[in-house]
Amino acid sequence: MTDDLRSRVIARIESERGALVELSLALHRDPEIAFQEHRASERLASFLGERGFEVERPYGGLDTAFRGDAAGRDGGPTLAILAEYDALPDIGHACGHNLIAMIGAGAAVGVREVIGELAGRIAAIGTPAEEGGGGKVALVRAGAFAEVAAAMMVHPSSRTISGRTSLASNRVELEFRGRAAHAAAQPDRGINALDGLIQTFNAVNAMRQHLRPDARVHGIITSGGSAANIIPEYAAGKFSVRARDRVYQQEVLRRFIACAEGAAKATGTTLMVNVNENSGYENMVPSTPLTERWAEHVRGLGIEVMQSVEDERMGSTDMGNVSQIVPAAHPYIAIAPEGTPGHSTAFRDAAATPGAHANAIAAAKALALVAVDLLADPGLLARARSEFEERQRTGVVRGG
Ligand SMILES: [Zn+2]
Repeated sequence: MTDDLRSRVIARIESERGALVELSLALHRDPEIAFQEHRASERLASFLGERGFEVERPYGGLDTAFRGDAAGRDGGPTLAILAEYDALPDIGHACGHNLIAMIGAGAAVGVREVIGELAGRIAAIGTPAEEGGGGKVALVRAGAFAEVAAAMMVHPSSRTISGRTSLASNRVELEFRGRAAHAAAQPDRGINALDGLIQTFNAVNAMRQHLRPDARVHGIITSGGSAANIIPEYAAGKFSVRARDRVYQQEVLRRFIACAEGAAKATGTTLMVNVNENSGYENMVPSTPLTERWAEHVRGLGIEVMQSVEDERMGSTDMGNVSQIVPAAHPYIAIAPEGTPGHSTAFRDAAATPGAHANAIAAAKALALVAVDLLADPGLLARARSEFEERQRTGVVRGG
């Protein structure tokens, strides 16, 4: 029976190929940044609504979030397939979230084709603002995943990897305040806020040698004064502080804040530290049964799956927070030549190519097949659940 269901799921996604590519390219042409993805969420919600999903928009208290449900028989689990669709400032879809959206929509439509013959429900959840805004952090807090048994999505990359982790992270804003004065006539009367920020960078760079190799601390100056002949009375910067697990990341965050406090002390400035409440991205803990099953399916569709290496380069994702509360999968599908950096113009351009879309269709089919397997075989979900509970019990999820 499952073989028949599988071939119908694949045929349905195949029949939507043109519409899915068009949807992805429409998002790519019209990038909207975190929490401003009104047209993208409208496009996706309509796509699902036109295909029989019961759509709620906005969802979970976020204007640009949505949820589209398709119910099967009573008594089965609810599976969430997530879609991201925010772009980066200035550079556009350089993280390829247009493809994540297309994969999520395609997989959901594929599962819906056979949902009537299975017990359970599929929820396509549109999760805004992955790039720093923490849409999923807010959705988790709003209880959007309360009755979800497993959550899955696929992210584009330059390599296909099924079970990669991600860094725990916080976004931190620093504001230094001093006193303005003529920079030539009365510099001794001024207090230089920019010096507070520059000393922070210097202290962080000195600290860097003594951090674990997986730690990342990086930032920009967003305000550094208004004229060369005025001692800056205000300076501000934005930083990310990350590490492979939350326990160590919190230690690095404390040391980062100490760097800024020391810089304020040294320069006589006053410091305000703002750790954004939605920016606490947890490290991703991928569910082994789910990611292995996706890898099997995507391999079956002719895509080579590579092994995650020990010192894998990685960023952060708010899918990490979802993975801390339910079994979750966040595999990567190759859409660009190996080695193409994320968040680059090359990656953005790759995210609109026919090759990227061909692989994205395969990723969507594999994702839909995992969902069908989960609904058809309660043993698979039970294995994911028991691994998840064991990790919660032993503290693996937050590291140490
Ligand atoms: Zn991304």
